[in-house]
Amino acid sequence: MGKHEQKLGGDTFAFFPRNPRGGKSKAVSAEDIAALRRFLDENRFGKLVVHGAYTMNICAAKEEIRANSREMLRDDLLRLQALPGNFYNFHPGCHVGQGVETGIVQIAETLADVIREVEAESGAPLQNTVLLETMAGKGSEIGGSFEELKAILDHAESYGGEELRGKLGVCLDTCHIWDAGYDIAADLDGVLRQFDRIIGTEKLCAVHLNDSKNACGSRKDRHEQLGKGTIGADTLKAVVRHPLLQNRPFILETPNDDKGYQAEIQTVREWMFF
Ligand code: FE
Ligand code: FE
Ligand code: ZN
Repeated sequence: MGKHEQKLGGDTFAFFPRNPRGGKSKAVSAEDIAALRRFLDENRFGKLVVHGAYTMNICAAKEEIRANSREMLRDDLLRLQALPGNFYNFHPGCHVGQGVETGIVQIAETLADVIREVEAESGAPLQNTVLLETMAGKGSEIGGSFEELKAILDHAESYGGEELRGKLGVCLDTCHIWDAGYDIAADLDGVLRQFDRIIGTEKLCAVHLNDSKNACGSRKDRHEQLGKGTIGADTLKAVVRHPLLQNRPFILETPNDDKGYQAEIQTVREWMFF
C-alpha cells in the first residue's frame, strides 16, 4: 500500500480497511503496519484519508444494520490505532425515514460511544481524527448541509464530553457539496466563508477533489474527471489554491484508470504550484 500511489505521483491516498461494500477485514500483522509506516515516513507521504465502508450506516432504521455498522466503525478505528496521525472519513449515514433529528442523535452518540470503547480497548487515546464527509443529500442522506454536520459535531461533543474534543472533523467533497447545492463555481469564497461560519475551517481536515456529472443542487452524487464535469477546471483550480484549504490532503475519487490518475495528479500539482 502506498507504492502504487507513489508511482502515480501521489503523496497521500485513501484506502478502505475492509471491502468498501462491507464485510470482514483481514487481520493485519504488526510487521505489515510497521513496514507501511516506515514506507510512508521515508517517502514523506502526507496524512492518509482512510474511508469507512459505503455500507456502514450508523443511523440505519433497522436495528441489525445499525449494530453491524457500529461494529464496523469500532473495528476500523481499533485497527487504525496502529497507524496514528491520519484521518478516518466516513459517510454520516442515511436516516431511512427516521427523520434527520433522530439520525443526527444516533450518529453523534454512536461516534462518541465507539471512540470511548476504542480508547478503553486499546489503552490509548484515539490516534486518528474521525471525519464526517459532506454529502450530496441524496435520498435520506444526512450531511448534505453544513448545518447538519455541525449538529452532529455539537451533539457528539456535548454527549461525549471533554474527552471528545479535537477528535472529530469534516472531509469536504467538492462533487458532493456542489450536488447538494453549494455553488462553488459562482462563489467559492462565499461557500467556504459559510463553512467557516457554521463549522469552522479549522475542522476542515481533508478534501475529496472531484468534478460532477450533474448540475449544482441535483443531489445526485456522480463523480466526473477533473475539468470534464459541471464544476469545471477553473473552479477546481481555485479550490486547490484557496488559502483556507492549504496543507490539507486532496484525494481524487474521479472515474479513472491509472494513466488518468497519473495525469490528474500532475494537473493538480500544476494548479497548486504554478
Ligand atoms: Fe465518500
Ligand atoms: Fe467523497
Ligand atoms: Zn460521492
